Amino acid sequence: MLIEMKAQGDKKIIGFDMDGVVLDHTENKLLLAKKFNLKIKKEETPSDLIRHLMPLSVYRKFQIDLNDNPKFRCLCAVMPGTKQILRRIIKSEVPYFLVSRRKKERAAIKILKYHGLWPKYFNKNNAYFVITPEDKNKKAVELGITHYFDDQQTILDKLVNVKNKFLFDHLGVFKNSPYRRIKSWKEIARLI
Ligand SMILES: [Mg+2]
Repeated sequence: MLIEMKAQGDKKIIGFDMDGVVLDHTENKLLLAKKFNLKIKKEETPSDLIRHLMPLSVYRKFQIDLNDNPKFRCLCAVMPGTKQILRRIIKSEVPYFLVSRRKKERAAIKILKYHGLWPKYFNKNNAYFVITPEDKNKKAVELGITHYFDDQQTILDKLVNVKNKFLFDHLGVFKNSPYRRIKSWKEIARLI
């Protein structure tokens, strides 16, 4: 009984953000910045940084173009190691979920399909699309998520009910983050 309870206590349920964790938009952002006449370095492309480099009204347009322009679907990349590590997670039978704030679910699924991630790794059974960061927290509670990976500190701040929060910082720019920083999917594998 005690052992069973311990096993229950150690049970991991993983949650992943999509943009900036599963999908890498760095090159798209650099291209788009050029189109918007902005000089931005690679290290400035994470969402929590880039949004402060232009007026909010411009950033909104930037984001719409980034998310909805079909051209970027092909140009974004899958974060290195994603599929390999997801296969390992599937094998280990640790449950995992995708919880994304993409407003246009169908467009998000199209991108995942294009990159061979849907339905093999993410599908109707484990992918959720929500609106606000608070919704993300709510969904995490509903799914019992114990470990969540996001590329935005501002989002992790809102996941008040998730016990273990990790900042996916593949460019290694958030050195002062209060969250544990993860630079690659290989590092995720070590945690699971
Ligand atoms: Mg993100």
